Amino acid sequence: MMVLYILLAIVYGISWVLQVVVSQIFFDRISFMIEGEMEVITILKALIVMGITYIFAQFMNGVFNYYGQISNMKLGKEIDNLFFKRVDHLAPIEYEDTKRLDDIHKAESGSKGLFWVSTTILDIIFFYGTYFLFMSGYLYTFNPILGFCIVIIFIPCIFSKLINSVFFRNLEEESAPIKRKVEYYKLCMVDKEFYKETRILGATAFFKRLYIQGLKKLNHLKMNTQLKKSISDFMINIVTVFSYGVVLYMLFLSVMNQQVTVGAFAAILTNLGRIYNLMDEVISERFGWASENIASVENFLNFIQEDEKQKKQDMPKEFDIRLKHIGFTYPMSKKEALSDISLTLYQGQTVALVGENGSGKTTLCRVLMGLYQPDKGEIFYGDHLLSTLELMNISAVFQKYCRYKMTVSENIQLGEFWKKTDEKELKGICKDVGIHLEQEHFTNGIYTMLGREFDGIELSGGQWQRIAIARGLFKNSNMIILDEPTAAIDPLEETRLYQDFAKICKNKTAVIVTHRLASARIADRVIVMKEGKVIQDGSHEQLISVEGEYKKMYEEQKKWYVNDRNI
Ligand code: ADP
Repeated sequence: MMVLYILLAIVYGISWVLQVVVSQIFFDRISFMIEGEMEVITILKALIVMGITYIFAQFMNGVFNYYGQISNMKLGKEIDNLFFKRVDHLAPIEYEDTKRLDDIHKAESGSKGLFWVSTTILDIIFFYGTYFLFMSGYLYTFNPILGFCIVIIFIPCIFSKLINSVFFRNLEEESAPIKRKVEYYKLCMVDKEFYKETRILGATAFFKRLYIQGLKKLNHLKMNTQLKKSISDFMINIVTVFSYGVVLYMLFLSVMNQQVTVGAFAAILTNLGRIYNLMDEVISERFGWASENIASVENFLNFIQEDEKQKKQDMPKEFDIRLKHIGFTYPMSKKEALSDISLTLYQGQTVALVGENGSGKTTLCRVLMGLYQPDKGEIFYGDHLLSTLELMNISAVFQKYCRYKMTVSENIQLGEFWKKTDEKELKGICKDVGIHLEQEHFTNGIYTMLGREFDGIELSGGQWQRIAIARGLFKNSNMIILDEPTAAIDPLEETRLYQDFAKICKNKTAVIVTHRLASARIADRVIVMKEGKVIQDGSHEQLISVEGEYKKMYEEQKKWYVNDRNI
């Protein structure tokens, strides 16, 4: 595509020079006719050739622009692919780092400018380059200085535009974190997830103030950059106007010295306006525009080039998990969220992870799954270091699960989206997690659309949670992690659900985070965490028979369940 684009650019550039040449021939013949040295028919022939050349140039203009649009669409698709592929390879911990979020943001805006910057560079070299090369060659045949002039006046402009690109690179750097904040404040006011609470709190005015402050800062930065740009543009324009005058003067001298024919003078003069416009377009618009965007395109290129270097191995089918002296601290945080954890989780074991809020349960799950790399210690899946393995065969249901606005079946099958839909299997899993499809609510069974966005039905928090659990359980995996996915489900129902989990998770290694100890009972083993450390480890029976954190929590919670026969 690029080769064809370049060829079209060259032909289009030549067609412009041809127009000047045929105009010269036409004007020359008119002047000969006036002197009585030529017949009208010869002039008519020149006129026809000139007409054809002009039509050809217009035709090339259409073809070139049309092909540009097609290439734009195709390239846009490829660029998006590169971007999504890179995002798919990002380590999840990178999302905890605000600088990284800015990089992603900047890369995304850079991906939009890539086509225009790359085609501008191609256009400058092959279309404008061809045009100026042939044009200066043509002028050179009359007067060598004239030929050089047209190229030399071009050079200082390029330099000053490169300076502009530095201004815009700085603007990108400074405005990315502000843009992210501004977008977030907007979301807090208008997004479906936020607006109810924001309204009730009466906090819209608060967010609006922050939003406007952010916008003002952005505008201020933009204005500053625009001012610098305008000053440098003004300087360029002076240079360009001056050179335009010099070319005119040179031309005038050349005619007086009879180096340039009258026809050539007329042709160049009529085309000089076009040359000037073209130069202006190249320098002020296309080149200027490209130099403004080159900074953001650079961000995109850096982003996609730092893709994972290491090829990872497939996960073993069955494995024990060994954690050796694991320590983990979040980026931009000083306190260790996990400290010196050593454990072995055996294949097929169901482990309940309990402990007060902030004790490190969620972080341990993420480290266990390989989503976060520990700063200290090592994790082995069987004999392999976890960091050398491709993350597969693992399934998880998170506290903050996603509400995908798609059908029930799509929601559940996401982890196995390539598989053919097996209605029976899907219905079975819905039943297991307590989604009653026969209810009127699900008008189209497993094909019912969820969420109001696309005219679907809205679910309660508990129902959404069950859909997320079904999704986690449906995925074919050797290991499943359930990080307290049942907060919106009532405690007795939760206990029943956990008993079903135990059945579904049979033969799988399962880690269940819960703060309701009635659910922890179903596990083979209970691990108690406090302040990032494991403080107790044993079966439910073992742990309630000794004095300690678990027994204390258990006694506390017993009061909640006086009517529950399970306790
Ligand atoms: P739990 O799941 O037991 O409630 P977490 O694993 O969520 O505990 O948190 C453990 C510790 O790590 C807490 O002190 C918490 O403040 C901190 N923490 C959790 N998430 C982040 C984060 N994204 N950035 C910084 N610190 C975090």
